[in-house]
Amino acid sequence: MEKRYIYADNSATTKVSESVLSEMLPYFTEEYGNPSSIYRLGRNAGRAVEDARARIASVFGCQPSEIYFTSGGSEADNWAIKGVADKLFAKGKKHIVTTAFEHHAVLHTCEYLAKKGFEITYLPVGDKGYVTAKQVEDAIREDTALVTIMYANNEIGTIMPIPEIAEVCHKKGVLFHTDAVQAVGNVPINVKEQGIDMMSMSGHKIHAQKGIGFLYVRKGIVLPNLIHGGGQEKGRRAGTENVPAIVGLARAVEDACADIPAKTERISAIRDHIIDGILSSVPASRLNGGIEHRLAGNINISFLGVEGESLLLMLDMNGICASSGSACTSGSLDPSHVLLSLGLPHEVAHGSMRLSIADPITPEDGDYIIEVVKTVVEKIRNMSPLWEDIKNKKQGTERWLSFVSPVE
Ligand SMILES: *Cc1c(COP(=O)(O)O)cnc(C)c1O
Repeated sequence: MEKRYIYADNSATTKVSESVLSEMLPYFTEEYGNPSSIYRLGRNAGRAVEDARARIASVFGCQPSEIYFTSGGSEADNWAIKGVADKLFAKGKKHIVTTAFEHHAVLHTCEYLAKKGFEITYLPVGDKGYVTAKQVEDAIREDTALVTIMYANNEIGTIMPIPEIAEVCHKKGVLFHTDAVQAVGNVPINVKEQGIDMMSMSGHKIHAQKGIGFLYVRKGIVLPNLIHGGGQEKGRRAGTENVPAIVGLARAVEDACADIPAKTERISAIRDHIIDGILSSVPASRLNGGIEHRLAGNINISFLGVEGESLLLMLDMNGICASSGSACTSGSLDPSHVLLSLGLPHEVAHGSMRLSIADPITPEDGDYIIEVVKTVVEKIRNMSPLWEDIKNKKQGTERWLSFVSPVE
């Protein structure tokens, strides 16, 4: 088979698109003014920032004044959660509801707040990786300050019933925040119709540059200032605006949300082909996360008796960029907290691979991926003493088998 180069790690980051780049370029070299300056060069830059804010607001169905630019998803998550926590702790609200499989930007923020005296409920996500509105409703207490639940999971691609979750939060009078970094461009989002109070978003997952994103904050919610200084972002997040990045973000949001149904159909057909091809040709494998309500480009498969890092390195030698979970956890030998939250044993969680595909992927790329994964997994297993033990049904290995397809 002829070697291909396939970037299949779009949930880690994406390439800046031509359209985004070309909209950004003038703001580096021609329209380089400071948006706060009074002369025309400054006013042009200021207008570009406000245009971008309005364009983004119109895509998500909110007011421009409800969009606050940040350095990305992590900052937006931190601001929303710590901001609400700070304000409501004084009123005796010291409980936060989240899930066990949030991004670390949410989980580690919650852990930090736990040390400050908050109680955190980590909702279990079941073996398929979903939470229900009922679970959220049951978890909310008198002293709940905030519910924060991701729109779509970055490792297994499952999409949560966000409008229903938002509805129970409102019924109980609790603020609702969602990390929508992976959902934007995959799920149509209208924050008003869906009852979202705060929403985090990042540019580099949708073909804008790294280091830009925003936090949507519903009018009426006043978060404490994140950065003290000048009057930018209504004085809540001071610092001269990153004009080119903001302009690029608006374009990326428009592009990503323009043709969601057609894109979903095209990409998910290739996704399903890859999943079926791998599961049917590789024994002792499993798909992680339910196939229903799943991001169009997400494939997460475990292979028993395979070491995740070797798999990724061998895929790389064959021109395929993949990851073992989130970019933040690779490099550490701990299995992903997301896969463990599904109830997988370490041995099954460890041998897993995430592919996140996006345009311009083709069905032929899909065939290539299936072929390479099949060959590489076989190669690794042939060298693995663990795989020998599994095949010989050595005592202690049976437990893992119930999580994967048959060995023979
Ligand atoms: C990538 C990601 C983030 C972090 O966004 P940055 O812009 O890299 O800080 C947060 N949440 C989710 C779900 C992500 O996938």
